[in-house]
Amino acid sequence: LAPGTPDIEIARAVLMRPILSLAEERLGTPAQALIPYGHYKAKLSHDYLASLKECPKGKLVLVTAISPTPAGEGKTTTSVGLADAFNRLGIQAAACLREPSLGPCFGMKGGAAGGGHAQVVPMEDINLHFNGDFHAITSAHNLLAALLDNHLHWGNALDIDPQRIVWKRVIDLNDRALRHITIGLGGAGNGIPREDGFDITVASEVMAILCLANDLDDLEHRLGRIIVAYRRDGSPVTAHNLEAAGAMAVLLRDALQPNLVQSLEHNPAFIHGGPFGNIAHGCSSVMATRAALALNDVVVTEAGFGADLGAEKFIDIKCRQSGLSPDASVLVCTLRALRFHGGADKESWGMPNPDRVRQGFSNLRRHVDNLRHFGLSPIVAINTFDSDSREELDLLKSMCAELGVQALETSHWAHGGAGAMTLAEALSEQLDEAPAPHVRCLYPDRLSLADKIRTVATELYGADDITLHPAAARWLQTFEDLGYGDLPVCIAKTQYSFSCDPQARGAPEGHRLDVREVRLSAGAGFVVAVCGDIMTMPGLPRQPAATRMELDTQGHIVGLF
Ligand code: ADP
Ligand code: MG
Repeated sequence: LAPGTPDIEIARAVLMRPILSLAEERLGTPAQALIPYGHYKAKLSHDYLASLKECPKGKLVLVTAISPTPAGEGKTTTSVGLADAFNRLGIQAAACLREPSLGPCFGMKGGAAGGGHAQVVPMEDINLHFNGDFHAITSAHNLLAALLDNHLHWGNALDIDPQRIVWKRVIDLNDRALRHITIGLGGAGNGIPREDGFDITVASEVMAILCLANDLDDLEHRLGRIIVAYRRDGSPVTAHNLEAAGAMAVLLRDALQPNLVQSLEHNPAFIHGGPFGNIAHGCSSVMATRAALALNDVVVTEAGFGADLGAEKFIDIKCRQSGLSPDASVLVCTLRALRFHGGADKESWGMPNPDRVRQGFSNLRRHVDNLRHFGLSPIVAINTFDSDSREELDLLKSMCAELGVQALETSHWAHGGAGAMTLAEALSEQLDEAPAPHVRCLYPDRLSLADKIRTVATELYGADDITLHPAAARWLQTFEDLGYGDLPVCIAKTQYSFSCDPQARGAPEGHRLDVREVRLSAGAGFVVAVCGDIMTMPGLPRQPAATRMELDTQGHIVGLF
């Protein structure tokens, strides 16, 4: 294939193996344990998942990154390339990834199935409607909204305060016009008029619940705990009160089963749940991670955007709740992003500039310090681009050496697993020889919610303090009074900066984290703190990626990347 061949054409040029025989040969998974979705995708059945509980566990490698440019720095691509590289070394390994959302696919960033020669396939199916999971999550979420409005319509026996409804609707698209809407217009037969709004599906509490649930039983319990509104006396109204949890679980039964696909090099990949480390907790599902660990010696999983969001939530939310713990970690970095943090803009961040790299290194340094704070010793993976200069690469490596952190060049985007062999070798040495890291959460359960947010802001983001809007402060007090003070926090903020100002690149200090709004996710088990201008329903850019997509004469998709 010629250099510059689009991801979708690279993906289509590979002859995929039927997923049932691949699973049997590579994972020892019998065909009857899989629910096939066509020839190349399958879900692992609930019975089979339950049978894996006693299996010995493989090692977990966490792939995270420095603060990205809007294009993304290659966590998914690196996770796939690295899993392929482990397999080339003869180590049974699988990638465990998040499902793409249609929002970025049709917006700015593109798909999320890796890139170049490090992809998971079939990439079109993974990027679009993947086995119906997001559809099921969207439907379950909106079913609860419909039951809530129906309850108001039929007399509001639960005495819900219509001014204190906290359950919005969701759709898996970027659509800013849906952020604030009015529903129930049209007269008495058409529901109770009230203000409402949409979030993108990945920000739904149902998504987080699917990602954090242990099994179907836990799923239904968590769904029941969702708080949708408050009564006039201030007490919460739950999905259980609305008798909604059963039907939501019915809609989610199949979606809760992790998906199995393959990489371009025919290695198994588990893809399940939750992207968006900025507005959501952003980790793939606990069930997929556990299944992958039971069936492989090494599992490579990604958490992003940058480690300030992705790794922090991975440890403080996913690991805290599930007991999972990473055995090693990788910090993906590109010279492009370092130039960006050193002041380069979109026009110049693709061009060599050692001074900007030197300047932008402050961002990498803080991410390394932060990961050490959690007890991890990351290896820096330099995801190399054709445009990188030798001078910059050597400079970056010498700055990493000064920091006492190993930095390795990778070229999996260009060469597949062969391009990540040194990284896989270094990690496998670490996994075999170094004692297992003592990974620790950043804060204890017993700390006020405001202090938890403050701890993340001051210890990881370099902030002096937080600014808590008065309404947010009152809500935090309410959550504590209701008994939710022990939950971890899930910070929603821009991925481009350690601060909540997307323009503050590098490693800003002395800023304050502006906490605009807080939301209780009682079923997922965390409190969301919405900071700065971040939106839980993104908008589309001026030139959306959607405008470049079409079907060719044979019905093939063109322009998806
Ligand atoms: P992340 O998971 O960190 O958001 P991805 O792995 O999805 O990032 O990569 C983002 C985009 O960048 C993808 O379109 C991918 O094809 C492209 N990309 C990644 N690495 C390289 C590289 N080394 N050279 C060129 N493009 C790359
Ligand atoms: Mg990704």
